[in-house]
Amino acid sequence: NTMVRVRHLNLYYGNTQALSDIVLDVPERSVTALIGPSGCGKSTFLRTLNRMNDLIDGVTIEGEVRIGGVDIYKDDVDVDMLRKSVGMVFQAPNPFPKSIFGNIAYGPRIHGIRQKRELEHIVEKSLRDVGLWEEVKDRLDDSATGLSGGQQQRLCIARSLAVNPDVLLMDEPTSALDPISTAKIEELVQQLKEQYTIIIVTHNMQQAARISDRTAFFLNGELIEYNDTATLFSNP
Ligand code: ADP
Ligand code: ADP
Repeated sequence: NTMVRVRHLNLYYGNTQALSDIVLDVPERSVTALIGPSGCGKSTFLRTLNRMNDLIDGVTIEGEVRIGGVDIYKDDVDVDMLRKSVGMVFQAPNPFPKSIFGNIAYGPRIHGIRQKRELEHIVEKSLRDVGLWEEVKDRLDDSATGLSGGQQQRLCIARSLAVNPDVLLMDEPTSALDPISTAKIEELVQQLKEQYTIIIVTHNMQQAARISDRTAFFLNGELIEYNDTATLFSNP
């Protein structure tokens, strides 16, 4: 089944076109890597999938984006809810200046979950899903900013998962990490695709080859190739 369906998507910053006629279908429970040179529109494209570009002045968007069948640019879409059902993880880990527990519980609390037992359950499950539970279970009340960079990034992924997203967007999530933390995140991405649809920007071709099922190659704001990763990387 298709989870993300994009049709004839154009995006302009003022008068400058940054995305041209993007068409793609991302199957559910898969990993798609977005690759291409710096400035080709990868991050811009990623941000169209949860309407983060709406926050930027002077942006014009044309075309259609459907997530789970829902046209996310229709007028009656709740953009706050959308940004939660399509989680985003950034290059630099950005935990809130809160406890580890508070970081994970934040989203569920906004969704109205107040019961302590239920929050505890969500916090444990989310941390288990990212392989962080054993490392932090005895210090859930400690500040998240005291964790290592790799742990912070896994915490940020757990924070996204805590609100049950359909799609997880990742913008160069390992660029700021050491090789061991990077390997852990790559392994985690492989596990998470059992449950989630993952779209990940990477400037690292080897990483795309290692972790993705499909690769989308951007150049000058155009999607010039979108194919099975194995096929794309075997082309001369
Ligand atoms: P990539 O992620 O592939 O490096 P980006 O999506 O960041 O590329 O950028 C694509 C193009 O859009 C670049 O030319 C960049 O300068 C421009 N751009 C990105 N963000 C903005 C913005 N907020 N305002 C104006 N131009 C932008
Ligand atoms: P902070 O703003 O410092 O992150 P928290 O959101 O972590 O604060 O704490 C606020 C609430 O979360 C408290 O009412 C507490 O009941 C609950 N809480 C915090 N840590 C835990 C924990 N380890 N186990 C269960 N509940 C917790």
